[in-house]
Amino acid sequence: MKKYAVIVVDMVNDFVTGVIAHPRIKNIIEPIRELLEKARAAGVPVFYANDSHTPEIDKEFKVWGPHAVEGTWGAEVIDELKPQPGDVLVPKKTYSGFFQTPLELDLREKGVDTVIITGWQADCCCRHTSADAFFRGFGIVVPRETTDTLTEEDRDRGLDYIKNIYGGEICSLKDLPFWK
Ligand code: ZN
Repeated sequence: MKKYAVIVVDMVNDFVTGVIAHPRIKNIIEPIRELLEKARAAGVPVFYANDSHTPEIDKEFKVWGPHAVEGTWGAEVIDELKPQPGDVLVPKKTYSGFFQTPLELDLREKGVDTVIITGWQADCCCRHTSADAFFRGFGIVVPRETTDTLTEEDRDRGLDYIKNIYGGEICSLKDLPFWK
């Protein structure tokens, strides 16, 4: 029996309605909300890997411009997906939720062997988080309703990459074993 955790990547205000908002992110809010509800009901732990940037230091601002500055509204999880007691917030400084964060330790402490990766963007932060999950020996599941990126083609390419290179299982929410 696999031991799952859900990882929600970058569903913070700046990506949804703030400085680098993109309309396609709206498509994944409700599916993620439903997933979190079912996960919590089934005792599946929920982690949020959130951009939390330090201006003047973090290299990403050269690529994307300023966004999700630590301690600001832009770096907070959107109200629709508000973290609940028991959920774990993992601030991150770059694309991967594992890079220089306690995420791996926290997952191991909870006995997790398979991560359900959701959020924004399929071909960037979700992909890089998948890479680090793979390097650390975690199984990867991505429900396709729960991630997106700037275009449909790029989303499909991102998902194909996760499947072909990291052995990720790309599924539908209703395929999850705790989905009832
Ligand atoms: Zn960032």
